Amino acid sequence: MINVTKVHLPNIDRYKKYIDKIYSNGQLTNNGPLVNELERRLQEYLQVDNLILVSNGTIALQVAYEALNIDGDVITTPFSFVATVSSMIWSGLKPNFVDISPNTLNIDCEKIEDSITKTTKAIAPVHVFGNVCDIEFIEKLKRKYRLKVIYDASHCFGVKDKMTNRSVLNYGDISTISFHATKIFHTIEGGAIIVKEKSMYEKIKKMINFGIENEGQINHLGINAKMNEFQAAMGLCMLDDIDTVISKRKTIYDYYKCNLLSEFSFQKLNDNFTYNYCYFPIVFDSENKLKIIAGQLNEEGIYPRRYFYPSLETLPYIEDSKIMKNSNDISKRILCLPLYDSIELNDVKRIIKIINNNL
Ligand SMILES: *Cc1c(COP(=O)(O)O)cnc(C)c1O
Repeated sequence: MINVTKVHLPNIDRYKKYIDKIYSNGQLTNNGPLVNELERRLQEYLQVDNLILVSNGTIALQVAYEALNIDGDVITTPFSFVATVSSMIWSGLKPNFVDISPNTLNIDCEKIEDSITKTTKAIAPVHVFGNVCDIEFIEKLKRKYRLKVIYDASHCFGVKDKMTNRSVLNYGDISTISFHATKIFHTIEGGAIIVKEKSMYEKIKKMINFGIENEGQINHLGINAKMNEFQAAMGLCMLDDIDTVISKRKTIYDYYKCNLLSEFSFQKLNDNFTYNYCYFPIVFDSENKLKIIAGQLNEEGIYPRRYFYPSLETLPYIEDSKIMKNSNDISKRILCLPLYDSIELNDVKRIIKIINNNL
């Protein structure tokens, strides 16, 4: 069976070495030595300051909203994984959807300004499939309307500005990332919060540990969002492999791109940033065509995924949102093909053949 992704498991002996360390020092969690080591190594690898590891990417978003004291409504995209919007609603915020560009699949920045109201407190864009949003445009709106900006950068591991080598995670008041097992870099479950200001960083460090300041002193509301040592051990092993993982993905990505008949539209990538090959989405000209081809692939034991479907404004718990025309339309016609470091080229060839033959 071939799924849309297959987790990368690092060498088990290397993982066991870390587990031995955990057993010998007896510290399983609570900001342990491996969490500290992974934070240090990720800051260096990603070229970011103020990175805080947390237990998953969803809680990273919730902590970000709480830390920035956001209430009211937040402008966001309807074309994303459900956690982008469920985290917001769970935190008592109201999503204010702005439609996407059908080319970049990211929030259409030109449409944001018209949606800003008196109760808008923040913008939470997503760099969808690792494709970086128009950051300069968003920063301008941020200054003009004094909004907070939280980037859901869940897909952006290793994505950098080509000119400055600066990580995309450095933008906004806060950027969050997911290290779930299905993402290109993972810690089994996990995530990180990358914070612009040092004072906010200090605040969040405490916030993820129940808001505990010192023994017997709790000044602010907090939650339990701590990463544990076993998760960090996985991350440390993954970090040794990540460059190889990304380069193998690039080979597969390029092979798809060259050999699929060009009857699809592909996501238009932001040329100013590097790409990490985290997904291979193709947009069909109709939902019917998608269903036929997905059916053919399924018959061969191949399971691509309808990322992202459905468009988030249509979820039953969303109150009074207009239908987002582009997002709703694209979400019905988009399919992510299997892409992972260990996929065999022969299987990729088979997938391409089934698709090309059924167009
Ligand atoms: C995976 C993902 C999340 C949630 O991360 P978890 O680590 O699974 O909680 C949030 N937003 C986007 C865009 C994602 O893809």
